[in-house]
Amino acid sequence: MDQRPQNITVLGSTGSIGVNTLDVLARHPQRFSVFALSGHSRIDLLFAQCLAHRPRFVVATDAQAGAALESRLAAQGSTTRVLQGHAALDEVAAHEEVDMVMAAIVGAAGLSSCIAAARAGKRLLLANKEALVVGGSLFMEAVDGGGATLLPIDSEHSAIFQSLPADRVSWPSVVEKIILTASGGPFRTRDPATLRDVTPEQACAHPNWSMGRKISVDSATMMNKALEVIEAKFLFGLEPARIEVIIHPQSVVHSMVQFVDRAVVAQLGVPDMRGPIAYGLSWPARIESGTAALDFATMSALSFETFDAGAHRARFPGLQLAWDALAALRGTTAVLNAANEIAVAAFLEEQIRFDQIHAVNQATLEALHFGAPASLPELLDLDLRARAHAQQLAKGLAR
Ligand code: NAD
Ligand code: MG
Repeated sequence: MDQRPQNITVLGSTGSIGVNTLDVLARHPQRFSVFALSGHSRIDLLFAQCLAHRPRFVVATDAQAGAALESRLAAQGSTTRVLQGHAALDEVAAHEEVDMVMAAIVGAAGLSSCIAAARAGKRLLLANKEALVVGGSLFMEAVDGGGATLLPIDSEHSAIFQSLPADRVSWPSVVEKIILTASGGPFRTRDPATLRDVTPEQACAHPNWSMGRKISVDSATMMNKALEVIEAKFLFGLEPARIEVIIHPQSVVHSMVQFVDRAVVAQLGVPDMRGPIAYGLSWPARIESGTAALDFATMSALSFETFDAGAHRARFPGLQLAWDALAALRGTTAVLNAANEIAVAAFLEEQIRFDQIHAVNQATLEALHFGAPASLPELLDLDLRARAHAQQLAKGLAR
């Protein structure tokens, strides 16, 4: 281990992943030093985090919030410098004194700072799956070009990474398939015909995980798993046909790898994001995470359901869009992500029904015509176009 603590920037520190990251970091003050934090809302929490972790910089992406934060910190005699706006995220992600960046912003809003960290050659801890779904191969080119180390924080991808051999070059020849587990969310056994009536509160009530509202709705539609299939394709470089999804309601087996000899290696643990966060921070070593141990004496039976069983395809029509988008033109995964972000926001604001999230996603994919984006600006332009289109569709559906 280096003598000096590793400097880390935590983007999206006020969110569920951000808070869990700071919890793990606080357990290892000799190893890690918080260099920068960022938050978009929940400014009281961001203020408290600044006092507790004393970062060099804090980014308030919302300008109004930034001004208020600045005067409150000054009144406390804090030396933390307040930066405002989205461009400042790129600065604290790529700063020369930063060793690692936790990307825990939700949605495509985190893409630019991920790319900045990648180009600057940082250890990039990726929770912000939407950034990779949007960026796709352009994101991976930035990682390779910058000499960055990209490590997954999503529990499934961390599990797969922990189950794979260290020798990355061998993966295409030794891995038969990767098996992503999915809890099935709050509506796993619900009659698909009644999904039109569910409320945002019901959709956000995940049985196993406590998370931000956007990913909670994605778990209820299983669009979260669709995004994770796309994420897995880019992270591990395996063709989409070798990525499978299995429903596992207990969320104890976090995911698995099946090798060509039919051996299956899995990673297990209690559902607590501090596990994968600690692994990303310490890899290839391991550190204490605060996560409870699995209690095999009281653990209920583990069960698995294939996605083709029962009414799962009717219940979760969005999952298939992952393979469809990966088979289509480059940029299609960005269109899918943009439509889904708009549709989920419209559902949370009670403008459209739960089942209409899929309708917006599918209709946007079908209607938008575009050429494969060759650069990041072209990709961002496509993202904007897809959002505008989805917004229009959502408005048309508004109840
Ligand atoms: P959250 O909503 O709790 O937190 C999101 C963070 O991003 C907050 O700090 C918020 O202030 C910030 N933010 C929101 N909009 C922003 C914008 N436009 N610009 C800049 N910052 C913005 O979300 P979360 O549950 O912590 O999830 C964060 C990411 O991690 C998501 O991509 C999610 O899919 C992924 N993830 C989360 C979990 C989990 O258990 N929560 C698990 C796996 C992956
Ligand atoms: Mg996950």
